[in-house]
Amino acid sequence: MLEKVLVANRGEIAVRIIRACQELGIRTVAAYSEADRDSMAARLADEAVCIGPAAPLRSYLNPPALLSAAQITGCDAVHPGYGFLSENAYFAEICTECKLKFIGPDAATIRLMGDKAAGRRTMQAAGLPIIPGSESELNSVDEAIEVARQIRYPVLLKPTNGGGGRGMRIANDESELIKAYPTARAEAEAAFGDGSLLLEKYLSQVRHIEIQILADQYGHAIHLGERDCSAQRRHQKIVEESPSPVVDPRLRKRMGEAALCGVSAINYANAGTLEFLLDPDGAFYFIEMNTRIQVEHAVTEQVCGIDLVKWQLRIACGERLTMEQNDVRIRGHAIECRINAEDPKRDFLPVAGELEFFLPPGGPGIRIDSHLYAGYTPPGSYDSLLAKIITWGADRDEALDRMRRALRECVITGIKTTIPFQLALIDDPVFRSGNISTGYVKELLQRWRESGTAM
Ligand code: ADP
Repeated sequence: MLEKVLVANRGEIAVRIIRACQELGIRTVAAYSEADRDSMAARLADEAVCIGPAAPLRSYLNPPALLSAAQITGCDAVHPGYGFLSENAYFAEICTECKLKFIGPDAATIRLMGDKAAGRRTMQAAGLPIIPGSESELNSVDEAIEVARQIRYPVLLKPTNGGGGRGMRIANDESELIKAYPTARAEAEAAFGDGSLLLEKYLSQVRHIEIQILADQYGHAIHLGERDCSAQRRHQKIVEESPSPVVDPRLRKRMGEAALCGVSAINYANAGTLEFLLDPDGAFYFIEMNTRIQVEHAVTEQVCGIDLVKWQLRIACGERLTMEQNDVRIRGHAIECRINAEDPKRDFLPVAGELEFFLPPGGPGIRIDSHLYAGYTPPGSYDSLLAKIITWGADRDEALDRMRRALRECVITGIKTTIPFQLALIDDPVFRSGNISTGYVKELLQRWRESGTAM
């Protein structure tokens, strides 16, 4: 087993990784920026090392600072969490060169899947259905127009190296495409340092369904069913659940087997997620693979009873996966609400403040993954995720009823949060019915605006 892990991240995921390490008897070092000196991760870890100023480029996105921290503290591995350097092939490569185990797949796999065009080509060759679109990155607006003529409108421009739903643009006809192309390029360049774009057919009535996989270094892989992340705002997930209300055992088997085909085609090792769009007829299309732990991993853990972060650590140090596909049992239903420091009344504007009082919900079936404590001021320099509330129930209704109770019970004062929005969403009859698509949240907000409903 590993002896000491550098946690190269912050916020709730840093705490999550420390907890997994502690249960496995692995020592931890929290790498923190000057803005995170008082963070829960820095307090919970066995050691903590300051890696630089608040600006991510000088701390959490700065490989030399992280590697020095790992070396001076005698770590033998680095866990990158999600975001920051978690899908940076160069970082994975130099960790390995410095004799530090990178908790994730190898650098070549990260590089391959980090490029959405290459990822699509690879998965198509492995037999997975993909959305019609450009085979590689677009070289010009003329090429975009040409592809759009073949696949027909509406189309979606998507950054090749994108993430977090940023930089995507829909075009309903040629004039919109001509207008959107330079804007999308500029946005991608600003957000990801790379303006290259892909063009895909835009599918309107779809659900976002993703398959969690675990694979060891010896070619053995299993899938842990699906997560439904169709409740999105601006292509970013806000509520996730497992299982999906619309995936039956047959579809789960088909999607799981497709995901495992993809995994074996690239000799993938560690935890990973293949994301798909599912249309109302049951046809599904691969969109991308995330080669890291995801924010929403906890819903899978709750229904499968498997600790994904512990398995990431075990697999990275060469342990074999001890479960077979038949051992995976999906029990009950789990839902996650992302609680962000945002004001839903002001178009989800990120807000800052000192947390005066924090009372997390409790009782049966409730799990809180958070880095909050009373008196803590979450720094404004990073993303706005404060806590994840995850509820489990024997069925979807019980999980939802518990979520309502948990959201009502949760007290956060001093900072505005998305709780009022989440509460209203959980009670919305359309969400309750389970009959939603990725456009649902936009429609819901529109509906509330028109009816003057207060959140
Ligand atoms: P990112 O890596 O930025 O998260 P993804 O490719 O994973 O981007 O897509 C994020 C979301 O954008 C999806 O969950 C879906 O809602 C929407 N999306 C992506 N591709 C398409 C498409 N071709 N048609 C319709 N919606 C799409």
